[in-house]
Amino acid sequence: CNFSGRVQRYSEAKTRQLQILNHVRGLSQGEKANFQLHSLLDFEKLQSQLCSCGNYLVFHQYHTVGQVRLAKASFCKNHLMCQLCAIRRGAKQVQGYLGKYEQVVAKNSSLRPYMLTLTVKNGDSLPERFDHLQNSVRKLLQRRRDFVSKGLGKTQLGKSDGGVFSYELTKSKSGWHPHCHMVVMLDPENPIDFPFDTRPQKYDKEAWSKLSP
Ligand SMILES: [Zn+2]
Repeated sequence: CNFSGRVQRYSEAKTRQLQILNHVRGLSQGEKANFQLHSLLDFEKLQSQLCSCGNYLVFHQYHTVGQVRLAKASFCKNHLMCQLCAIRRGAKQVQGYLGKYEQVVAKNSSLRPYMLTLTVKNGDSLPERFDHLQNSVRKLLQRRRDFVSKGLGKTQLGKSDGGVFSYELTKSKSGWHPHCHMVVMLDPENPIDFPFDTRPQKYDKEAWSKLSP
């Protein structure tokens, strides 16, 4: 059942969760008030939730079917702040999307999943940068819908037969870096065509031509 691997993953997530808890505890009242993206966040509640989330996990082993299942646990469900709840949410989403994926591939066996990352320039203001990314993604998806359903306009994303996406927000010395990760279903014979100057510089022309699903 790969039980030890599963416990190891939970254990690593719990360690990162405690790092976030310590970070939150170290924030001053002013810093908490300035936390713009989650202005409604109740920090006291969050701290106690993170503190108790996933502190015990009871697994049941079912000998006859060779399975180990998580039977008892308490989770805080703050997937944006809690690593443990984030990996559980991710696993549930994978389960949910896998059925859809299999349906799509059964209908059109030439389709393959491709990772697509869309991003904007880094900046100092997270709300401003995130709004810009979110508005741009919405515009792009609307253009794809117009193209697919009404044949209007033209967009490279129209080549995809569907997909899923989520936003990721990271921060480095050069500022906030919101970006969007997508898995899009494409026919390898008809891939999305990026203008060469917008491709990641680490790939030269030859490396890019080997791009695979
Ligand atoms: Zn949690």
